[in-house]
Parts: sequence; structure tokens; C-alpha cells
Amino acid sequence: MDDFAKSTLRLHIDKTIKNLKSNNMEASFAPTREDALKQAAALIKEGDTVSCGGSMTLFETGVIDFLKNGKFNYLDRYQKDLSREQTEKIFRDSFFADAYFVSTNAVTEDGELYNVDGNGNRVAAMIYGPKSVIVITGYNKIVKDREDAISRVKNIAAPANAARVGSPTPCAKTGECVNCNCDAKICCSYVLLGKQRVKGRIKVIIVGEPLGY
Ligand code: SF4
Repeated sequence: MDDFAKSTLRLHIDKTIKNLKSNNMEASFAPTREDALKQAAALIKEGDTVSCGGSMTLFETGVIDFLKNGKFNYLDRYQKDLSREQTEKIFRDSFFADAYFVSTNAVTEDGELYNVDGNGNRVAAMIYGPKSVIVITGYNKIVKDREDAISRVKNIAAPANAARVGSPTPCAKTGECVNCNCDAKICCSYVLLGKQRVKGRIKVIIVGEPLGY
């Protein structure tokens, strides 16, 4: 990316940050994934109960490894050989976490977060429960408005996620949404987070690198 592209991108990022703040979310820019991890780490303290939603971005930024460092009570949904019952318990216990780490399927320049879930545990925890929600997102998730957010999920995020988890959805094969009604459907709950009542509960870190899908 040359300097002109970088400065243009930064204008979009700054606009998004300004509008997230006006919606009562904290928002900041991290030039690199390493900076994002440092910013995220500063938002929690030793002994905190922490959890996370499913996210490639959290792996790519090193957040998942950081949460496993033994200083936190980490509710680890990625432990090997968890039964469905144990996983469900982690999902429910996460509602009482001090901090919940997550990415977002899209963030609009109007300052809104748009997410689509199959299970719904991730979007539910973003809406209510954990004291603090820390959202880390690559700049590639920034879209102009709600319409573009919906399009991004249908044509990028959902097909890529379906392919990643081996879900036999039509979009996993074609790369685009056909508004399916199959049992494997991963788009069941559509959540737009706008103006927040609890100021600063949601903290968004926008990274100057493409991350996740
Ligand atoms: S509705 Fe179906 S086809 Fe469309 S993105 Fe979701 S899972 Fe894929």
C-alpha cells in the first residue's frame, strides 16, 4: 500500500472511530497486530475471568495465546475433546466474564457493529452479560453502511466461515449467499450494535492490517 492509499484508508478509519465513540463505544487505532495485542492486554488485569467468541482475528493477533498465559481465569472454548455439554457451559459462563474478546463481521463508518451468528452465543455476549467487550478488527471489515455490512457478511464472512468449519452450506461451495434454509445454515441471528447505554463497555480496536474474514 503506498502513502496515498494509506492516508485515504486512515481517513476512513478515523471517521469510523469518531462515529463509534459517538455511539458510546471506546475506539482506537492500532497500526499493527502487535500493537492491537498490547492495547487489548492493557484492558484486562491479572485474575480476570476472560472469554472469547469464535474468531480467526483473535488467533492472528495472538490474543488467544495471550489469554492462555495462566494469569487469567480463561474460559477456554478451544480446549481439546470438550463435549458439547462442556462447550455449552463455557458459552453460558462467558456471560459472567470480566472481559469478552471478539472480532466483528463488519464495522460501518457510521459507527455500528454488524454480526451474524449460527449459535448466537457470540452476539448474545456482545449485547449483554460480560462487563467489558473487546472487539479487535482488521481494517478490511470497515464498510460504508448497513447495506454494505449485510453484503460483506453474505459474500465474504459467512461463505469463508462456512468453508473453514466444513459446513455443507451452498455459500461454502459458491462463495456467495443464496439465502438458504438448510439445516447447516450458519446465519441464524442478525445483530446490529449501535448506540450503547453503558458507555465504554464495548471497546473497538481497529488494526491497520487485514485480519480474519
Ligand atoms: S444464508 Fe445460507 S447460503 Fe447464505 S450465507 Fe448463510 S449459510 Fe450461506
